[in-house]
Amino acid sequence: KTKIKQNLDELAEKIREGSRLHLAKAITLLESAHPEDQSDAQDLLKKMLPYTGDSIRIGITGVPGAGKSTFIEAFGKMLCERGHRVAVLAIDPSSTVNGGSILGDKTRMEQLSREPNAFIRPSPSAGTLGGVHKKTRETMLLCEAAGYDIVLIETMGVGQSETIVRGMVDFFLLLVLTGAGDELQGMKKGIMELADTIIVHKADGDNLRPAQRTMSEYKRIQHFLQSATPGWDTRTHLVSSLENKGLSRIQETIEEFRETCMKTGFWSSRRTKQTTEWFQAMIRDRLIDTFYANNDTKQRVSQFEKQITEGQMTVSQAVDLLFSDEKTELI
Ligand code: GDP
Repeated sequence: KTKIKQNLDELAEKIREGSRLHLAKAITLLESAHPEDQSDAQDLLKKMLPYTGDSIRIGITGVPGAGKSTFIEAFGKMLCERGHRVAVLAIDPSSTVNGGSILGDKTRMEQLSREPNAFIRPSPSAGTLGGVHKKTRETMLLCEAAGYDIVLIETMGVGQSETIVRGMVDFFLLLVLTGAGDELQGMKKGIMELADTIIVHKADGDNLRPAQRTMSEYKRIQHFLQSATPGWDTRTHLVSSLENKGLSRIQETIEEFRETCMKTGFWSSRRTKQTTEWFQAMIRDRLIDTFYANNDTKQRVSQFEKQITEGQMTVSQAVDLLFSDEKTELI
């Protein structure tokens, strides 16, 4: 036990010194399913807590092909050149379905990965959505303790992943492409309402004029939408990651956003709210796991399902039975 404690102290120290190797090791410990590793990982995380929180947490979303990884590579490189330390994480819920990760399979962000001030971690490749969420959040905290002052979290833009990432970042970027009209009408209003800034991406070459038109269209529509952050009107900018255009503007916008939110106090109140909601979500997860852990429960649930569909029982009766029987068993 003392040995483990010593190892954890050493691991913590190395991470604080900026060793990417040790940071990666610690994240692997976090991702491990072994209960012993989990308890070590939590001890380590607790040691690191005082050093967390000092970064700007940025979420990035957009449909596949919107150019997220190209943008992150170009933007991340620029930030590193300007003296920042940049961590890149990803949430990829498709990996929970297929067992394989889209992000992990692609060789991505090669140039950024060669930057000494960048740390790229592919998404955890297995588990439930809640599990992937937990790992990403805890990894983010470790990265902050390791001195990364900018954390970029990419979502694959599938299912609930945007909402999950919005729930763990300060600033949320949505990448869109030209072809306003129909596409814009079809785009979920909900996703636009999560964004603090919309980037009309690939604004270069023949695509520049259409991109400008798309930008006007988005600006027009934004008047009818709710902004994601109180006191901040959603911005729209043109970016070409291939030509490195518009990237400085995005950094300036993020800085302005931070100043604005620090002034209103929303910066810290949002973070507090995020942590509390995360705590409650984990309680709900645990309750559900505990409930279904019993084999007998699973059997009874499927039996009741049958009876409900056959009209032999109401849904409320089935739920009451499930819980009242649990109690009798406990007594
Ligand atoms: P992701 O699926 O959202 O991560 O998209 P990728 O970053 O893989 O990019 C999809 C395609 O768009 C690739 O062929 C990129 O070369 C291209 N692309 C990305 N950014 C730009 C850009 O700024 N301008 C142009 N013209 N093409 C781009």
